[in-house]
Amino acid sequence: MQLIRSDDKGASTCRRQHLNHAKAFPCLRSLEVPSSETDGTERAWMLSLPALVQAKVDSCPLYRTSMQKALAERKDTLTLILYQDEVSGGNILNPDGARKSNLTYFTWLEFPVIFMAEQWLTLGVTRSNEISRMEAGMANLTRAMLKQIRVETENGFALDLGASQEPTLCWIDSVILLMDHEAIRAATGTKGASGLKCCLKCLNCLALGKASHVLEHHDVSQSDMSQFWPATCDSVLAAADRLRVEMSKGKKKELEKFLGWNATNFLNGPLTAPELRDWVKVENIQYDTMHGYYSNGILPQELGLWWSRLREQCNVTLNHLQIFAAMRQRCPGTPAAKQVSPEKFFTDKTWKEGYDYRGDATSSALVLPLCIAFGREVPSEQEHVQAAIRSLEALYQVIILLADLKRTANVEKLLPLQRTHMEAFAAAYGSSAMRPKFHYVLHTSQQIKKNQRHIDCWPCERKHQMYKARAASNWSNSPHFSKGMLLDLATEDLNQSHPAEKLGVRLLGTIQIEPAGHDSRASTSSQLEIKCVTYVAGQFVFLSDDVACKLVHFTQSGSTFVAHVHLYQRKTNDRSAKKLTNWQTKGHSHTCLAAKELEATKSPMYFRENDDATVAMLL
Ligand SMILES: [Zn+2]
Repeated sequence: MQLIRSDDKGASTCRRQHLNHAKAFPCLRSLEVPSSETDGTERAWMLSLPALVQAKVDSCPLYRTSMQKALAERKDTLTLILYQDEVSGGNILNPDGARKSNLTYFTWLEFPVIFMAEQWLTLGVTRSNEISRMEAGMANLTRAMLKQIRVETENGFALDLGASQEPTLCWIDSVILLMDHEAIRAATGTKGASGLKCCLKCLNCLALGKASHVLEHHDVSQSDMSQFWPATCDSVLAAADRLRVEMSKGKKKELEKFLGWNATNFLNGPLTAPELRDWVKVENIQYDTMHGYYSNGILPQELGLWWSRLREQCNVTLNHLQIFAAMRQRCPGTPAAKQVSPEKFFTDKTWKEGYDYRGDATSSALVLPLCIAFGREVPSEQEHVQAAIRSLEALYQVIILLADLKRTANVEKLLPLQRTHMEAFAAAYGSSAMRPKFHYVLHTSQQIKKNQRHIDCWPCERKHQMYKARAASNWSNSPHFSKGMLLDLATEDLNQSHPAEKLGVRLLGTIQIEPAGHDSRASTSSQLEIKCVTYVAGQFVFLSDDVACKLVHFTQSGSTFVAHVHLYQRKTNDRSAKKLTNWQTKGHSHTCLAAKELEATKSPMYFRENDDATVAMLL
């Protein structure tokens, strides 16, 4: 373990960094990765994982309490979740290669809450053009980073949690690499989505249309997961052995294609490192569902196809969609509330016939319910149009369940819904339109069962904003960009502090205390937080398929929290029930709920108050 001093020349730079990054600077470590251009090495920077975790435990009570709970759950043993992604800084429409970097974040599987960006910490930043100068690029850098973590933690690492005199000795028993398929390709050395073998987790999965004459192989349009043979540590090592001994260039190329690996990257990557054996395993490489469905995923592809179909077959224009969307209001307390008004999603910049929907992951998520509702009102009975609408509806069911799986345990329903969607998609657009992501997301239910929870990379997408904002400035030309950026991001991580009370139930916002004289003095507020999720007055919540409520206010007396709500019931005699979900107020509509009842509920994104006093809600 070396502490970095003046290797970068210019002692003043170092002194400044030391002062500006008082907490992050002592965590800094340097890595040497063999160069692809010279006989020497290329330098990269990362943070010491134990040192960073200790610094975060010291500065954030929420992180400290989360760590205590995590360590208590599995007798001081933790599972590390590592996420890597290449991010462009600056203007998205005019990306600048020099501002492109690969970022690494991490969190812990045992943490009670990991959907908050603040529970993930930045571990490394390396500019892409520096990675391209390394032999075997990202695979080698990932190996070096994991080896550094392993060296610092394999004999346990001590954490002072402040609760007793003695520090706790913690262990990391395995690492989950949770990433987009592109990042998995870069980090492990697979051939990736463009190769013949496009899934590193399946031995017999081939690219679209390539399996028709190959015995016992299937392509990415196969929706029956039992047909695929899972890759194991042994199969990975066997592939490595074969590639290592093959000396003929031509034969090696053949073998690479047949096995699905790029030999140089694979043999220098983390899966073949002896020091990482049994710690970093192919079984623990997981596809991120946020990238599978939202970010350049299945959803924007299908929205683009749906829109093109509607344009071709009906006289629908963007203006129709805008008018339709403008009649909806954003539901308070939901992601929609923080975004532009619904009609603004329908611009000709993001919707182009013949192309994927071009909005980002968040826009894709928020535009979907509007398109679903619109589809239910499209008058055309034309079969091509109806097939497109059925496929989008089937995808919608998958997306709703995926969100549900963060709170509930219905994982058995996922694969059947995904298969239904694949069938509807094939009927509407043909299976030749299926991309490899259709296959990658089929691994989701295995992953959820293994992890016993559904984790995705939405929080990392939010963390990228910190990088993007900084990379926009001109200092991206500096040779110290990677190191400076890493220190900046780590300092921001360490400066964010939250109270441990976020893990429980508490009132937020302006709290009014009832006047004395009442039997028990109650406090009232318009905001309530349960396990880091905030509920607000005016928000609609579905309590079951047929009962919904609008939150009015929240009270606390002693340790009892109550939500005061208006109840609604689904309007069943509504002729258009299939088309639009209308709700009407229930008899004695004012009632109280124990706050805990809100925990497993979902909230519609949009609503519309109709003239007949019913409310249309869109999930
Ligand atoms: Zn697979």
